[in-house]
Amino acid sequence: MGVFEAIGTETHEEVLFGVDHESGLRAIIAIHNTSLGPALGGTRFFPYPTEAAALRDVLRLSKGMTLKSAAAGLDFGGGKAVIIGDPATMRSEHLIRSYGRVIDSLGGRYVTAEDVGTTVEDMVLIARETRWVSGLPWAQGGSGDPSPATAHGVMAALGAVGERVWGSADVAGKRIAVQGVGKVGMDVVRRLTEAGAETIVTDINPDAVAHAAEAYGSKAVSDDEIYDVDCDVFSPCALGAILNEDTIPRLACSAIAGSANNQLATEADIDRIVARGILYAPDFVVNAGGVINIAVEADGYSAERAEMMVDRIYDNLSAVFDTAEQDGVNPDVAATRFAQRRIDQIGRLRIKRRPGEH
Ligand code: NAD
Repeated sequence: MGVFEAIGTETHEEVLFGVDHESGLRAIIAIHNTSLGPALGGTRFFPYPTEAAALRDVLRLSKGMTLKSAAAGLDFGGGKAVIIGDPATMRSEHLIRSYGRVIDSLGGRYVTAEDVGTTVEDMVLIARETRWVSGLPWAQGGSGDPSPATAHGVMAALGAVGERVWGSADVAGKRIAVQGVGKVGMDVVRRLTEAGAETIVTDINPDAVAHAAEAYGSKAVSDDEIYDVDCDVFSPCALGAILNEDTIPRLACSAIAGSANNQLATEADIDRIVARGILYAPDFVVNAGGVINIAVEADGYSAERAEMMVDRIYDNLSAVFDTAEQDGVNPDVAATRFAQRRIDQIGRLRIKRRPGEH
């Protein structure tokens, strides 16, 4: 399939192929939409089986970033980049800095950050070639690890869910089943415990489960049993595509809200959830804490400002639930409408140039 054919009728603004033969760099940067500001999105370093698979992934992920940043209320658009190859064998200063120069050639239309396969150290190297990079370490005035901000955002989302489901943003006494106690999930469990909630956890890593049990008194279940746990909220914080035709009928929760990306396996799964009377908090609204934290870095990082902005996930999610009710649509459609409305309104505003503005 040709490149233009792969892009199809999607509305991407620009797709850039970056190559450096000496270092072996093969990168694709997709700028989906810059109506609200520069395209923001991480760089995935992954051994894609084919170039077509890499292109498909970067197009899909960049589009998702447009919605995520818009729904989070950021002045950023959506973009994403992929480097094709195995980071374990291909990573070198030469390759990463070559990639930094590719980003620099876009003159600020794309701002990168960490993603699967890239590290803070990579961002530091990229910063030596371009200023259009975020997610730098604290020591360099950056925002550091985004996971605590993402966990903070999940808590804000649970507040909005609580308002709808049990009439209060307070999670004290509630039972929350957390799938995956990694960087985000473990911090969610810690915050929930401090807020007086009961947690039930699972993870394929037994050490993580043991830590949650010991430090936070979490009840442990197997990775399969988590779907059957009788709870108020099921919080997926591990993998994507876990809400599907096999798992949804098993759920014994009132709501779903977690950090994992792309939780719905297919478009039909949101209807399955709605039919079961379960409230679904769209993942890209719930897990925006990380991207908000990174966006704050653009104006000089402040943890206080980041926290305030992440708290707004409560308002954003509440607005999504309102839109769903008013428009008579499911929360996933409502979240896309909520984001698109902001892109249309604020994006239009930005087209009106001020005198002297270029
Ligand atoms: P992580 O790798 O630190 O944690 C994921 C955890 O899930 C690991 O402990 C892993 O062992 C566990 N896991 C994997 N497969 C599992 C399974 N089948 N059942 C149960 N547990 C399983 O990743 P993270 O940074 O905590 O991110 C968690 C999720 O949130 C991911 O989907 C990620 O894309 C998403 N997310 C993370 C951030 C962030 O700031 N870190 C931001 C937005 C979205």
